[in-house]
Amino acid sequence: MRICRFDDNRVGIVSGEGIRDVTAVLDRLPQVTYPLPRHDPFIAALRDLLPEMPAAARRASPIPVDQVRLLSPVANPGKIIAAPVNYKKHLEEALADKGIHHGNLVSEIHKAGMFLKAPSSLVGPGEGVKLVHLDRRNDHEVELAVVIGRKARNVSAAEAPGCIAGYCIGLDMTIRGPEERSLRKSPDSYCVLGPWLTTPDEIPDPGQLALSIKVNGETRQDAHTSDLILKVPELIAWGSSFYTLYPGDVLLTGTPQGVGPVRPGDMMLASIERIGSMRVEVT
Ligand code: MN
Repeated sequence: MRICRFDDNRVGIVSGEGIRDVTAVLDRLPQVTYPLPRHDPFIAALRDLLPEMPAAARRASPIPVDQVRLLSPVANPGKIIAAPVNYKKHLEEALADKGIHHGNLVSEIHKAGMFLKAPSSLVGPGEGVKLVHLDRRNDHEVELAVVIGRKARNVSAAEAPGCIAGYCIGLDMTIRGPEERSLRKSPDSYCVLGPWLTTPDEIPDPGQLALSIKVNGETRQDAHTSDLILKVPELIAWGSSFYTLYPGDVLLTGTPQGVGPVRPGDMMLASIERIGSMRVEVT
């Protein structure tokens, strides 16, 4: 199933015919009281809501996907975890290009670990990326994004697939420069998640997906998740050995080779096999 959020916080099921509004299922969410939970309440309840969605969808007429404003499929992730250098060819290009590494120590993920992007950086494809610090190099990074579906602490790689709510396309937008990654990758709108959440039954192996991004029609990154250094189950296991993962936490699995700058006015088209494509405007 493909689940999207759109327009004024509507929830929809996406099929070839378009989006069918199933927002009514949100009435079943438990009341959230202060202090707020560390998880996303919708993703935490998704397992229980999924069986009700097809019936709700049958009562709705389809809306063409290009007529809605797509929001992030996860509204309130507790944290956004990201893998820095998780494709070997991207490590090679980062080491070779001072415009990327800026004298920072760039090493593969086993040494570099993972980092966090601010949850306030999150937007959906329909909201676009609003660049800041225009005098500096601002890059696109297309990545397979994993959404955590249940609380996970010290899980093994074998247990990790059971912790996944679904997959999205992620854009880890990045200002190049000497500062910490968490600063350069966390301005508002520098994390794009979309176009929808694709449930794991549609993606039997997240390590077998083609991913790409075009900017103004020109292919910039064109790669395959089979080249990931740490695969999705290993990333979840490793991450859960440092912090508890909660439903709605987002894991960006790293970007392949071909990162490059974008400018206001550019149109990005990011695609991942079995998930779909999303257009994201740079302003
Ligand atoms: Mn990245």
